[in-house]
Amino acid sequence: MLVVMKKGVPAEQVEAVSEKLVSRGFLVYPVYGAERVVISVSGDLEAFKLLAVEKMPGVERVVVVRRPYKLASREAKEEDTVVRVGRALIGGNQVVVMAGPCAVESREQLTAVAQLICRSGALILRGGAFKPRTSPYSFQGLKEKGLQLLAEVARETGLATISEVVDEYSLQLAVQYVDMLQVGARNMQNFRLLQAVGRAGKPVLLKRGMSATVEEWLMAAEYIMAEGNEQVVLCERGIRTFENSTRNTLDLSAVPLVKSLSHLPVVVDPSHATGDRRLVIPMARAAVAAGADGLLVEVHPDPARALCDGPQSLTLAQFSYLMEELRAVAAAVGRAA
Ligand code: PEP
Ligand code: MN
Repeated sequence: MLVVMKKGVPAEQVEAVSEKLVSRGFLVYPVYGAERVVISVSGDLEAFKLLAVEKMPGVERVVVVRRPYKLASREAKEEDTVVRVGRALIGGNQVVVMAGPCAVESREQLTAVAQLICRSGALILRGGAFKPRTSPYSFQGLKEKGLQLLAEVARETGLATISEVVDEYSLQLAVQYVDMLQVGARNMQNFRLLQAVGRAGKPVLLKRGMSATVEEWLMAAEYIMAEGNEQVVLCERGIRTFENSTRNTLDLSAVPLVKSLSHLPVVVDPSHATGDRRLVIPMARAAVAAGADGLLVEVHPDPARALCDGPQSLTLAQFSYLMEELRAVAAAVGRAA
């Protein structure tokens, strides 16, 4: 259950509701959002109804949510959430494309990508500065220097930025430079990190863990939202299956499924989902046709020399072609791209 308090109610009214519920054995968790306090309540629904909490001072309404993810659930909020990042409105009519290299490598590399993606209609520049690599001996990212380059190049082109955070240290730096924080697949259930990004006051892109169920993914979003941050975008990036001819298996059915279970925007990353640039454009088209609110795509001016994820990175020419293709698919499903 969710007890939605009126805007600007005094703390005593929130406490009175909480105390009443706690005294009857309910678990309560007040969420201090940007506009109002919402108290998340766990316990028996019939016993809850008898308390008539909706009649208590300061209470606007009570929402019965049966799902374990409450704030993220469609039951809690019927209308789609739209997350603003720079000029982009993720979850609105336009399919928002975020693109860039897997890792920021140099000013030249990033500028070449940024200018091209901007001309082609992408709105957000991606670039990893703290890279979670399978091997400790692989390139680990330019760290703060990478974030600085990302912010500078984006400013010159008018793009917004997104970069991955992997711990509290990278988060503390990233909030100074980027418009959106990315939580990667490997950290989807790093609950301390989720809480910290929830408190950081920036939009968050939450990637699906490679072995995470849809429910676990939505519970991870709940961790961020329970800190009062409603600006969460979910990203399907492929899951581990028995199939090993692609890097991961893109779970496209998760897009319409999650959009029915949750009001949060859903985007697709066809690059990590396939690991193969030849498959990225077809899967990007399919994602938009399936209702994705956006895409996260890796692009590199010279993929053969990329320090990270070259085989799945589109060339600049392939990226402009992708954007043309997307416009047609988006129009076919009643959206803009
Ligand atoms: C990335 O976007 O560069 C990345 C590491 O993705 P994922 O967390 O999905 O593997
Ligand atoms: Mn990558």
